[in-house]
Amino acid sequence: MDLITNIQKYSIHDGDGIRTTVFFKGCPLKCVWCHNPETQCFEQEIQYDAEKCTGCGVCAKVCPNGAVTMEDGRPKLDKKLCKLCGKCENFCTQGIREIVGQEYPVKTLVKELMKDLMFYEQSGGGVTLSGGEVMAMSTDYVLAIAKALKKEEVSLTIDTCGYVPYEKFEAILPYVDTFLYDVKVMDPELHKQYIGVDNKLILDNLVKLSDAGARIYIRIPTVKEVNGNEENMKETIRFLKEHDIHPAQVNLLPYHNTGSSKYPKLDMEYKGNDLNAPTKEEMEGFVKLFQEAGFSNTKIGG
Ligand code: SF4
Ligand code: SF4
Repeated sequence: MDLITNIQKYSIHDGDGIRTTVFFKGCPLKCVWCHNPETQCFEQEIQYDAEKCTGCGVCAKVCPNGAVTMEDGRPKLDKKLCKLCGKCENFCTQGIREIVGQEYPVKTLVKELMKDLMFYEQSGGGVTLSGGEVMAMSTDYVLAIAKALKKEEVSLTIDTCGYVPYEKFEAILPYVDTFLYDVKVMDPELHKQYIGVDNKLILDNLVKLSDAGARIYIRIPTVKEVNGNEENMKETIRFLKEHDIHPAQVNLLPYHNTGSSKYPKLDMEYKGNDLNAPTKEEMEGFVKLFQEAGFSNTKIGG
């Protein structure tokens, strides 16, 4: 089941111009600093806003499956018992319980996206499919969305972690204007440690996409303790040069922890508390490294 967690209007950091960004649910990676924990799991989940909870206990009372118990005045969810029936969502006295992840038939989704056509046209923007990992959704579904947008002459950007079989990229390539392609850490061991998987498939796919003529923005979420150092940036530059990759842009995205507040809602633990963004001077130094290596269109931010 392909699920969507959010359709975000007026996005200005997800590609060119003003865009409407669709967040798909499910990702093969587990980045320690993930900003969207609600998009990690491929299945629906129930979340609640702990800060606004009054501890009234109604959710525990109405749950027909005994999935919610009150502990220290707080509702505790047993995910194994929850059948996602939505009853607690309907009866929560504060309206703060929510099932995350909805199915959207292609027609419904495209109709929603077309409401913003005027913004796309005026700004040189379009639609960005993101996540989670859009490329981990079923190929038929993503292709159908891409074809429908192409028919409407709406620009399509794919925001991807790159960790999927290349055939999926090959199928969608003719319908995509730009790929926002994450290149996180060049050291495979560090990649495993902070992202959960080896980076070989990601780098192989990047080379193949580039060879196939795709327009690519390389995105580097930059974390001081992980990849925010000269060694990693130089290795990234070396890789791009070795494989003759000419990204239309390189975007260095300084780490921020704005997603950390989402974790308690899902009863998840944020493991990035010890992480930091590099200083402004360090970030500027990384930009200079790329620019001096010939990647003139490198900037801080997306
Ligand atoms: S969604 Fe249904 S099963 Fe799950 S906690 Fe709420 S009431 Fe219980
Ligand atoms: S019904 Fe809503 S406000 Fe009341 S305990 Fe449950 S989550 Fe909190």
